[in-house]
Amino acid sequence: MKLSHTQVDTVYLGQHKVYVKRDDLLHPEFSGNKARKFAYFLDNDFPLVKQLIGYGSPQANSLYSLSALAKLKGWRLDFYVDHLPHYLTANPCGNYRAAQALGANIIDLSRRADRDGLDCDSYIRQRVLTGSDEQLFVPEGGRCAFAEPGVAQLAKEIASWKYAEGLTELVVFLPSGTGTTALYLQKQFLTLDPSISVMTCAVVGGDDYLRKQFLELEEDEALHPQIVPAAKRYHFGKLYLEYYQMWHELKSTGIEFELLYDPLGWLCLKRCWQQGFSKPVLYLHQGGLLGNHSMLPRYQRKYGAIFGE
Ligand SMILES: *Cc1c(COP(=O)(O)O)cnc(C)c1O
Repeated sequence: MKLSHTQVDTVYLGQHKVYVKRDDLLHPEFSGNKARKFAYFLDNDFPLVKQLIGYGSPQANSLYSLSALAKLKGWRLDFYVDHLPHYLTANPCGNYRAAQALGANIIDLSRRADRDGLDCDSYIRQRVLTGSDEQLFVPEGGRCAFAEPGVAQLAKEIASWKYAEGLTELVVFLPSGTGTTALYLQKQFLTLDPSISVMTCAVVGGDDYLRKQFLELEEDEALHPQIVPAAKRYHFGKLYLEYYQMWHELKSTGIEFELLYDPLGWLCLKRCWQQGFSKPVLYLHQGGLLGNHSMLPRYQRKYGAIFGE
């Protein structure tokens, strides 16, 4: 199972040279930044644990990765979702379907009589966690300190690659959800190699939300990554023509990117270039390609005609 030491490719977008760290080439069931964030759970023994508990979107990459983790470890996965959309239960696809195939127990909180208006996090903390050592709870998207060792390994790989390339400075660019990956990378580089810095953009919930997420993991703002603002406010999971155009443009790199995070990541990077940014960039490919199975048909239905699809 390949869980570290991914290659770095050199691609061009227009006249701009970009290095791409191919974490999409980690193991297919345990890929991208979720493999990095959950590496701690794979690398360590948890002899008492029987039940893994998580929550998030029924389409989330983390649902699939947690399912794979539970299966490998022989644990049961209880994954709570706020509600299950009908289109998904009628036509299971993408991460949802793959997680089911791995045996995940996906629980629709909107059908629970004892919900009492609680969100997933509060419901789990108040109604599910018993304090027993048999339970292991992972907050949404792996936003917790357990994610740090796996991301530290990623930082080491990037720092030694940069050294081997003889680069004097480097910016690592990645789009953020919870910001866990970006934050722990930035922290690592401050000690490993301060000539490497992290730039990111907020794909979920806007710049202020991302700053809050950073603060929950690290109080010292001097250790936070730089947030590149988007040209306008985009809503997570919604379809945008600019996103689909960007995704098509990325085909010229010969690498497939995903449709939730990467389009905004590259749009923001392009904006930086337009504003004169010229440092060497390594874009972190964080996987998530299974999600394209559900996103691509939606995009094709909405905008396919524009692209002759
Ligand atoms: C989960 C995920 C992200 C967001 O990662 P965070 O550490 O939560 O910021 C970005 N891209 C892909 C493909 C993901 O699966």
